[in-house]
Amino acid sequence: MAGGVVPLRLRSYSQAAPHACETFGAKGVRWRVMRLKLYCNRYGHFKDALVCSVSCAYRTRCDDFALFYDEHREGVDALVADYYAARREQEGRRKSVAASPAGTAHVAPVARPEELRKLIRLEVLREMAEALYIWVDKEDRAELLETGEVLRRAERGQKAKHIYRVSQEMELRYQLVPRKRIEKAKRTAAVEAERADARRTRRTNARPPAPVPFPTPVASAEAASEAPAPRRARARAGR
Ligand code: SF4
Repeated sequence: MAGGVVPLRLRSYSQAAPHACETFGAKGVRWRVMRLKLYCNRYGHFKDALVCSVSCAYRTRCDDFALFYDEHREGVDALVADYYAARREQEGRRKSVAASPAGTAHVAPVARPEELRKLIRLEVLREMAEALYIWVDKEDRAELLETGEVLRRAERGQKAKHIYRVSQEMELRYQLVPRKRIEKAKRTAAVEAERADARRTRRTNARPPAPVPFPTPVASAEAASEAPAPRRARARAGR
């Protein structure tokens, strides 16, 4: 898979880029977050790349993030993949707690990643060796069932609206920033760097203007006649 594509599945931390990691706990779930930060010119302060990636509405058209993402693609992708993996794990725990008799815990709403249809695609994660079925009931609710459970339901007289056999498990992959956007941001940055360079060179090469030569005074004929005679000439005249 080309760089810049985020698989929505758990990655081992050893695959992540060697940045400093931070560990913290939230409601029993331990998340490890890699600190990748960039300066955001729009909001005027440093932003965590994770915040840019999963919750900023400007992400796909932001030059700051496009350039940062191009340089730290591997780290940012791993960061996002870890985030979704941790979130799925947390959601799984919440569901199991909610399913338990004592499950009265409040389920906090989770932020939805923005829809980026152009950047998302489905890929086969694995071929299913065992037979699994998607059971769609009258209310259009879907469940993933094994053969035994399908037969048990049929024995109980339950009928499905639709039954599909599952042969592949798919995964969603998406690119955080469109490639065209990255190229555009790079071009803009290159032009700006070139202009700054040119300005610097112009300032360095600019020399102070050469001094204007002071004009040598030319004695006029009149002034020469009025001028006192040289000492030797005066001496000869006195003789
Ligand atoms: S994506 Fe861009 S605009 Fe949004 S927070 Fe990150 S740097 Fe700022």
